[in-house]
Amino acid sequence: MKASSIFATLKTAAMSSSPTPVQAAFKLALQRELRSSVDGISREALLRAAAAACREPLGERWADTQIADAKRGDDPLKAPVRRVHYLSMEFLMGRALGNAIAALGLEETLREAFAAQGQALPDVLEREPDAALGNGGLGRLAACFLDSFAELGLPSFGYGLRYQYGMFAQAIQDGRQVEQPDDWMALGNPWEVPRPEASYRVGFGGRVEVDADGSRRWQPTEHLIAQAYDFIVPAHHSQRVSTLRQWHASAAAPIDFQAFCRGAHAQAAKHRVAADSLNWVLYPDDSTDPGRELRLKQEAFLVSASLQDLIARHLREFSSLHNLGKLNAVHLNDTHPALAPAELMRLLLDEHGLTWDEAWTINRQAVSYTNHTLMPEALETWPLYLFEALLPRHMEIIFEINQRFLDEVRAKFPGDEGLLARVSLIDEGGPFGHGGERRVRMAHLAIVASHRVNGVAALHSELMVQTIFADYARIFPERFHNVTNGVTPRRWLQQCNPQLSALIDGRIGKGWRQDLAQLGKLKGLADDAGLGQQFGAVKRANKERLAALIRRELGVAVSPDSLFDVQIKRIHEYKRQLLNVLHVIARYQAIIADPTAEWTPRTVVIAGKAASAYQMAKSIIQLAHDVGRVVNSDPRVGDRLKLVFLPNYGVSLAETIIPAADLSEQISTAGTEASGTGNMKFALNGALTIGTWDGANIEMAEAMGVENMFVFGQRTDAVAQIKALGYDPRLYVEQNLQLKAVMDAISGGEFSNGDTSRYRALVDNLLGRDTYLLMADFADYVATQARVDALYRDPAGWNRCAILNVAGMGWFSADRTIAEYVERVWSVRSLD
Ligand SMILES: *Cc1c(COP(=O)(O)O)cnc(C)c1O
Repeated sequence: MKASSIFATLKTAAMSSSPTPVQAAFKLALQRELRSSVDGISREALLRAAAAACREPLGERWADTQIADAKRGDDPLKAPVRRVHYLSMEFLMGRALGNAIAALGLEETLREAFAAQGQALPDVLEREPDAALGNGGLGRLAACFLDSFAELGLPSFGYGLRYQYGMFAQAIQDGRQVEQPDDWMALGNPWEVPRPEASYRVGFGGRVEVDADGSRRWQPTEHLIAQAYDFIVPAHHSQRVSTLRQWHASAAAPIDFQAFCRGAHAQAAKHRVAADSLNWVLYPDDSTDPGRELRLKQEAFLVSASLQDLIARHLREFSSLHNLGKLNAVHLNDTHPALAPAELMRLLLDEHGLTWDEAWTINRQAVSYTNHTLMPEALETWPLYLFEALLPRHMEIIFEINQRFLDEVRAKFPGDEGLLARVSLIDEGGPFGHGGERRVRMAHLAIVASHRVNGVAALHSELMVQTIFADYARIFPERFHNVTNGVTPRRWLQQCNPQLSALIDGRIGKGWRQDLAQLGKLKGLADDAGLGQQFGAVKRANKERLAALIRRELGVAVSPDSLFDVQIKRIHEYKRQLLNVLHVIARYQAIIADPTAEWTPRTVVIAGKAASAYQMAKSIIQLAHDVGRVVNSDPRVGDRLKLVFLPNYGVSLAETIIPAADLSEQISTAGTEASGTGNMKFALNGALTIGTWDGANIEMAEAMGVENMFVFGQRTDAVAQIKALGYDPRLYVEQNLQLKAVMDAISGGEFSNGDTSRYRALVDNLLGRDTYLLMADFADYVATQARVDALYRDPAGWNRCAILNVAGMGWFSADRTIAEYVERVWSVRSLD
């Protein structure tokens, strides 16, 4: 196909219709791109051209947005709008083109232009690599928030790092996970806009010098340059955009010329390589990586560059620092950027000459923090010696913050030495600390420095103040809040499920894209049998697409008539993928025992990555493959049961899988899943949930009616009670023949070709400790799965329930979440 013919098509299209200015500008840009394309009009060329063309209108919108935001303090009669700075080590953006053209209203323009070249729009979109700069929910939440920042017109910057390699690419070899580098920028990144004017120096190491006047000055031994790259995220219902500013590190010093001339080339560039190592990878969140020092440097680098950028912008716009805290919010997405208060204090004290009290007031006004997990091992701490060596001035500041804070606590709760030790920013390494080693507690720093701390779902926020932060809730009761997570309906319904979107549009109009609460109008239509059938037909079409993908990827034929039972999320013991696999084994054994019974055919789909050092999670992936291999190839089973594991889970795979799910597995041990957002995406797309009374499942059940969710398992109070009474998982196994048969099959090597050692650790763990109570919840889980089967045999009843699920999801929009953050966490009023 000749490139020239696409120009002709575009020109005809441009003349025949009356294009909007954006469409016209886009068409010109596309023509220019294609003319300069060296490889003709491959899908990749079309992708690059379209992306480059989108940059033009996005760039315009970016400039307009910045100009408008700079004026936000101008009206003396209005309370100033605060600009939000959302600091996160992770942004799980996924693909950008589909979202950009939906926002810019260019879908039809592109569809026609590509069709004229024999290319379907979705096939081109699929060529874009995912920007997978995050591990899971926390990073995806940050990405959904950027979308809502734009949509709500909130003055904001997202701040992150520009990782060369994102979350690893997961390959499966012989049923085992193999990690490969995720070279997502190999063909360049057409979306980023370099901002050479936004560049800052960040120091490490050295020591603190004291001047004659007593002021302290940090003399670092190493300097890096932080260079900004912007990723622009458009609103869908206005011209606003939000910005993700990602920092790239390079060495401040040029190459060592003396060494170079001696011929010692490697040594001449040593510090450049060291600087560049900050850009290499996103560390997996829960592995025990030896690169911890590098991770601390990455965190400090993100924080310092972002805050320097904030201060520079504030001074440009308002020329005084006194109102910095009132006009800017600095939000910490978990403790990873919790160095921010220490760095902000350092900048205000040492670089801008403020007093401690002035700086501390600004700091407290600006900073707020979201906690994402109750698991104590996930609360970051840093060995003091490492911290002090890399960040000596920050260490001093933290000691000072700590001393002033502990003095306050002492005054308020005299004589309570235990309390002081527990809330200190420093873990002194006593008998209950980290075995003798002094450590800096980042969550404590985040709480003490913040004016607001929030959890991410009602139950999680409650448990947070009852357990890990109970002492702090006593000291600062007004500081703790809840803001339940949400997801963006633009990506997670409109774009990923066009057929369902069209069906909903036809019944209640298109307004839900902007105001998801309008989905509530579907409630009154749940008994409309015609709508139920149409719901079923859309689901069926989505399942056929997924079945085709499964056949293509894995060579396994699955029936779109079977119930698609889906669990996709990071592989973790608390999320209990293993419980899911145990159910598959139990079902397999039951089918073999009684093949003629009335079985509801099922296809179980699992996807997710295990942190590279997390052996138990990797063992669960292997077991899923082993069980799948046996079940899928057993001729006695046929379509009654299949188990497939789709490799390399990420945002784009989620967008394909979720619209095709009948059943959403949200089965964490009660009290362990802070919120979950996968649960929301599934229900929004008409999947029914089988879930525990955990995280946001609870609020979803309340919103849609608990009778429309398959709830099972021990609740948090019962979990605590079982553990308090001395939990013995063996008792549950001995009392349940079905469970015993499942465990025996695994340990007897039935899924590992007779190898009885492969799953010994896994089985021993379940029978010995079973931290996440799989044995205690197994019977109820299996019984509830039988209720799922029964409803699925009644398509009308199932579709009715699916409609009610969608109708109940209006509250779980990220737009609502962000509106609540603005109200309770980021508003000027929250400072009183
Ligand atoms: C939504 C999402 C998550 C979070 O899923 P949970 O089920 O809430 O853990 C993780 N990864 C990706 C790619 C997602 O889109």
